[in-house]
Amino acid sequence: MNVIKNKTALLFHSFDCSNNEDNFYDLTLLEFKKLIYDLSKELNPNKITLTFDDGYFSIIPAIKYANLLGFKTKAYIITSKINSRGYLSEADILGLHKLGTNIGSHSHSHIDLSKLNQQKLIYELKHSKFLLSKIIGKEITELSIPFGNYSKNVLKTCFDFYQFVAISNPYLKSKKKLIPRLSIHKSNHQNILFIKSVLQGKLNLLFRLKLVLMEFFKKLIKPKIYKKLKLIFLKN
Ligand SMILES: [Zn+2]
Repeated sequence: MNVIKNKTALLFHSFDCSNNEDNFYDLTLLEFKKLIYDLSKELNPNKITLTFDDGYFSIIPAIKYANLLGFKTKAYIITSKINSRGYLSEADILGLHKLGTNIGSHSHSHIDLSKLNQQKLIYELKHSKFLLSKIIGKEITELSIPFGNYSKNVLKTCFDFYQFVAISNPYLKSKKKLIPRLSIHKSNHQNILFIKSVLQGKLNLLFRLKLVLMEFFKKLIKPKIYKKLKLIFLKN
């Protein structure tokens, strides 16, 4: 088994899912199973964390399979979506918690936190934490930032309420309490060599450069155009 040097986690969204607003991030359950099965043959699954953003109902079978293989799992929930169609119910969330999945917040209304005033930002973080802590009967200590968008102040405020904050970039120079993640999507889920190298902390220079450029564009262009660019750019 290879040793995992860095703590980059993988980021998934939904499976076989018709209600994911961004179809780019939806995989078939079969594609997911194949990927993590192959990874478990080459790397130690106990050292790898699979994270699931948004709280889609379709993550339940994926998490069960990941647990079976020995991966660590985390689900970050949009609390305004709880109990709505296509999303996890309160009972589902409690069920996942009991299975050993770490439950975290993905904000209350899945809004770009970098565009909120301080009062609204605090509400998004605090209210979501309150609702989830009530469901699982334990303090929620992790947050995943919606769209990976944050400023210095957003990050600082996130840490006022949460111990760990997950972002959507596998940067290597990460702070101690930041969880870097590689997003798995339609264009890269078959590239096991690439995924393996990121998990092992060997992010190549070209990919790092692509990430920096994408972050730069994200702030400048409209979300729709960004989505199109992403398809071309993030092909590995
Ligand atoms: Zn999200």
